[in-house]
Amino acid sequence: MSKTFRPILLVLLVFGEILQFFTIAPAQDIEVRIGIVAIAENQPAYFYFDGRFLDDTRPNLKNLVLLDQYAGTLGLAGRANLVSMTDKVGDRVAFKRFAPGEYLAESQFNGWNYNLALAPIGPASAKAHISWVTADQGILMLNDVLPQLGVGRPVAARVEIELPDDWQIITSEPSAKKGVFDVRDVDKAVFVLSRNGNSRVTTAPNGPLTLSISGKWQFADREALAMASEILGEYEKIFGGQSARSPVVSLMHFPENVGLGNWEADTRGSTVTILSSDMPFKNQSVQRLHEQLRHEIFHLWLPNGVNLTGKYDWFYEGFALYQSLKLGIASNNLRFDDFLASLAQAYRLDIIQLDRGSLIAASERRWSGANATVYARGMLVAFLCDLTMLERSKGKRSVTDLIREVYQRGASAKTPLDGNEVVLGAMRERVELKAIADNYVTGSKPINWSKELLAAGIAADGDGAATRLSVVPKPNGRQKDLLDNLGYNSWRKLSGSSK
Ligand SMILES: [Zn+2]
Repeated sequence: MSKTFRPILLVLLVFGEILQFFTIAPAQDIEVRIGIVAIAENQPAYFYFDGRFLDDTRPNLKNLVLLDQYAGTLGLAGRANLVSMTDKVGDRVAFKRFAPGEYLAESQFNGWNYNLALAPIGPASAKAHISWVTADQGILMLNDVLPQLGVGRPVAARVEIELPDDWQIITSEPSAKKGVFDVRDVDKAVFVLSRNGNSRVTTAPNGPLTLSISGKWQFADREALAMASEILGEYEKIFGGQSARSPVVSLMHFPENVGLGNWEADTRGSTVTILSSDMPFKNQSVQRLHEQLRHEIFHLWLPNGVNLTGKYDWFYEGFALYQSLKLGIASNNLRFDDFLASLAQAYRLDIIQLDRGSLIAASERRWSGANATVYARGMLVAFLCDLTMLERSKGKRSVTDLIREVYQRGASAKTPLDGNEVVLGAMRERVELKAIADNYVTGSKPINWSKELLAAGIAADGDGAATRLSVVPKPNGRQKDLLDNLGYNSWRKLSGSSK
């Protein structure tokens, strides 16, 4: 290529990108300014939300609706006060409040304004899922602070967060100007707020990851960054591509005192939020961070990276648990005995469920009593798929191939597909997995794994709620191969062949 062509090409490239920027920038539904009304040590923080709807064609032009409950915590709309509404020329519009968070205006309005008390509310676990701010840190999750549009599609917003200079905003949302963000989907947008460098922010040297850590931990920040980057890299290999463009992992303590060893996490859009207390000893602290990251980072791909709808939680929770265990063994962060102990625990938990429905039905009732089934039996199904695929293919294929296939089908879907249909489709296309799908996913039979366990050289001792798993004393050749596929000997590979 001659030199004279290069500047022209460059101009074209730049112009091409600008054009692309305009064509892919979504039409915005909401424009909002967010900032502090009052904040002080040991006082509840008040934030203003001053916005307007940009789309005159939206349905319910007279309704203002704020979310009142999320992930089991009630009374969110009770945080609002000083609500007002205005019409297009800025005149006030009268309104009535019907139920908490439901306002009906007397005529059409498009401007709205309210304050929210953002002191942490609800149980400790709620702080991973709902917005809160203290005097020196917080999390804004837009879905519980902005009006609900109820349009059945992602709501886009131009969000301006106005904070004093000693505050920092950490987010994966794109920003063209300091403090101004073009949010494509308010339900997926998370902003971590930090005052006076309360959060230490680092980025991976050769990857898209940003890590935000606040508070003291038994491990160093750089250890956590290395760990998160490595796990992200492992999942890139498993899923066959990157997840979110710029994932953010945020680790903080609960804003209240909780006992050692508690944690709660939320992976939304491309943000992983982990609220945790530390562990007594460093090795436990490191092991647990690894476990938290293995599970949550999986969710950046499934379900967050796919165009799948419906309640298929049994798959992306159960298979996340299982894949996370396997990654733990492969990276020498989990002992094989602990892997078996986790599976036995899931089995015991599942076998004692009195109200036994299918996994599909349990996923529908996840937040009303079926959470344990979704996780426990979901994980057992992943394990059975793994054993069956490994056995059938003599170690050439595993549950990882199934997970990758579901991800790739879901990620490439132009229009939303039903999650359960895609997963069940991928399972039933493999003859050997059909019975697992029929018996435990769409059916409600108790797990019967004796044949699969025997093939893998694993013995189940005790019955029902007393079941324990262990490796058989003298595995035969096939059993050894399967155990090896499960990672039984991974310590040998990692510690080198000379030992
Ligand atoms: Zn999960």
